[in-house]
Amino acid sequence: MAELPASTLRLRIDHAALAANWRALDRMSGRAKAGAAVKAECYGLGVDACLPTLRDCGAQRFYAAHWSEVPQILAHVPAASVRVLHGPLTPAEAQYARDTGAVPVINSLHQAQVWQESGGGVCDLMIDTGINRLGISPDDCSDPAIQSLEIDCLMSHLACADEESGTNAAQLRRFKQCAQTLEFGSLSLANSAGIALGRGYSFDWTRPGLALYGGIARREYEGVIAQVAFPQAALLQRRRISAGARIGYNAAFTATRDMEVGVVSLGYADGLLRLWGPLAQMRYQGAKLDMLGKISMDMVVIDLTHAPQLREGDFVELPYALPEAARQSALSQYELLTLLGTRLTRM
Ligand SMILES: *Cc1c(COP(=O)(O)O)cnc(C)c1O
Repeated sequence: MAELPASTLRLRIDHAALAANWRALDRMSGRAKAGAAVKAECYGLGVDACLPTLRDCGAQRFYAAHWSEVPQILAHVPAASVRVLHGPLTPAEAQYARDTGAVPVINSLHQAQVWQESGGGVCDLMIDTGINRLGISPDDCSDPAIQSLEIDCLMSHLACADEESGTNAAQLRRFKQCAQTLEFGSLSLANSAGIALGRGYSFDWTRPGLALYGGIARREYEGVIAQVAFPQAALLQRRRISAGARIGYNAAFTATRDMEVGVVSLGYADGLLRLWGPLAQMRYQGAKLDMLGKISMDMVVIDLTHAPQLREGDFVELPYALPEAARQSALSQYELLTLLGTRLTRM
């Protein structure tokens, strides 16, 4: 087989920053232990790229969303450390949990039944304390189907942890009430933002996701959480255009002077959505390079006025400090991470 040349698209992962982020969140979790949400390919950064780093710096519990995510995760960590948040919807999924040893999170009376009918055993239980997304309602804690579960971790999920909201305290109160009616091994409530709400929210396990990967979920994380993901793309072509020349689909940009421009191998198929708008820029050795005209599926054209030294084959960087990138693009920090395409080589 012919050897594949290096990609013109890469996602540099700062592994030291990823490890430092986990340690900071683990420290802020107090006597609770920080796990790691690794669903959606570690929020788009890549399971194979991130999971060994998270494991080696000390994370011992890993949250997937789908059963389809489990095989890749099991290549790196023991099955009993993996919790599958969407739970067993069908007997086939319950059987898959039994076969692999990955632990299901039970989210409904139906799932409790499916799990028990498959033979039961250790599971986690998600209680809905106010987000109205996934989880059993507090009223169902007394249901025999729930009371008969073998619950390792009792969980709930905060709706507004990234805001100053009365909802947080209300959910905390409800969570503690539910805990009094059930038997379990441990408790877990806080996501990234929830950890910053204080030790009262941490319990036994915290479940950070976004902040591991560089997301600033709350002000408390400024200067604490570092950027992890750095998208980079090669310059495919330099070209000189004359005043009056127009660039790209629908000729949306018109040059007002003769100028040097460059074609970069990054487009919306890779996650660079058109929402970034006319103020978007790339970076090269400190120089800011405006994007010109419309972003296309696989390419975008940039102004090379401030980078006369940039050559075809050199890599430019998309500024991806998440709070600023979110302001620039009108996308959430979660979306910015999870939409990074598979053509970027994680490295
Ligand atoms: C995704 C998820 C997390 C992580 O949330 P972040 O806001 O990314 O830290 C934690 N718990 C559950 C149940 C989740 O679905």
